[in-house]
Amino acid sequence: MTGGQFLGDGPAVLAFDVGGTDTKAGLFDEHGSLREIVRVPTPYSTDGSGDAVLTQLAVLAGQFAARHPDIAPRAAGLIVPGLVDDDAGIGVRAENLGWQNVPFRDAASATLGAPVAFTHDVRAAGTAEYHLGAAGRFRNVMVVVIGTGIASALFIDGKPYSASGYAGEIGHAVVDVGGAPCACGGNGCLEAIASAGAITRLYNRDAAAPVAGAREVLDLARSGDALAASVWNTATDALGLALSQAVALLAPEAIVLGGGLAQAGNALFAPVEERMNSFLTFHRRPVLLPATVGENAGLVGAALGARSLLAGAQA
Ligand SMILES: [Zn+2]
Repeated sequence: MTGGQFLGDGPAVLAFDVGGTDTKAGLFDEHGSLREIVRVPTPYSTDGSGDAVLTQLAVLAGQFAARHPDIAPRAAGLIVPGLVDDDAGIGVRAENLGWQNVPFRDAASATLGAPVAFTHDVRAAGTAEYHLGAAGRFRNVMVVVIGTGIASALFIDGKPYSASGYAGEIGHAVVDVGGAPCACGGNGCLEAIASAGAITRLYNRDAAAPVAGAREVLDLARSGDALAASVWNTATDALGLALSQAVALLAPEAIVLGGGLAQAGNALFAPVEERMNSFLTFHRRPVLLPATVGENAGLVGAALGARSLLAGAQA
C-alpha cells in the first residue's frame, strides 16, 4: 500500500506501531499517502520504563526528516500492545516488552516535539477499519482481530469505547470452563482455544507431526485429518459462542473479523456465523465482514488518530 491514497488530504503525520516483535514507522504526506514505511526490532525495556522505545521513535523520526525534507509532519500517532489507558495516555503494561505505567503520550510528544495521539494497537486497527473499511456505514461495530491472540475494538453509537483500556478483551472471556490454560493466567479463554497460536498449539499437542501454523491445520482439516478438523471446529464453535454473547450485550450491526486467521475466508466466516446465529433468538443478527484495510491497519489507524488531533487544520 506504500504510495496509496489512504487518508485523503490533510496535514502530514508520523505513525508508529510498536509491536511485540517489530516496530513499524510510517510517514504520511499531505495527500494521505504512506510515503515510507520502516520496520525495526522493538527494544525490550530492561528497567520497566519506555525510554528505549522513545529513543527509537526519535531516531526513526530523524531518519524520515533527513530523507524527506519536503514533508513536515505536524503530529504523530503512537500505538502499543498490552493494557493501554487511552484517556490517561499511559501504557499500563506489556509483559513481553517489559514496561509498566509509561506515560507514552506525553513523553513521546516531548521527544518528537509534536502532539501525539496514543492508543492500543487493536483499537487503532479498529479505527482504520471503522473509518476506511466496510463497517463505516454502521454506528455499532465490533472489530475482532484474530492472530497470535484475540482482541477487539468497540464502536458504540459511532464512538470508540475503551473503558480505560479494559473493554474489548473478548480473547480473555471464558468459553470453556476449566479449559486450556491461557497466557493471562486463566483457563478456557477464547484466545486459548481459537487464536491462530492456540489452533497451532492444540493441534501439535496431539499430532504425530507438528505444524508451523494455523493455516496448515486448516489445510489438513480440508484433506480429511480428523484431529485438525476437530481443533478447527472447536475454534470456530468457540468464536461463534463468544460473538453471540457480544451480540446479546452490545447488539453490533456489524462484526469485522481481521488478523491472520481471517485470511482463511469462508472456512472461518461460514462456521463462525452459523454457530453464532445458532445461539441467537430474538437478537438482531449482525453482518460478519472481513477486514479490508490490510496488514498496516494499525499504522493507518495511528495516522488517523494523529490527523484527528489536527482536525480543522490545513495541510
Ligand atoms: Zn486469557
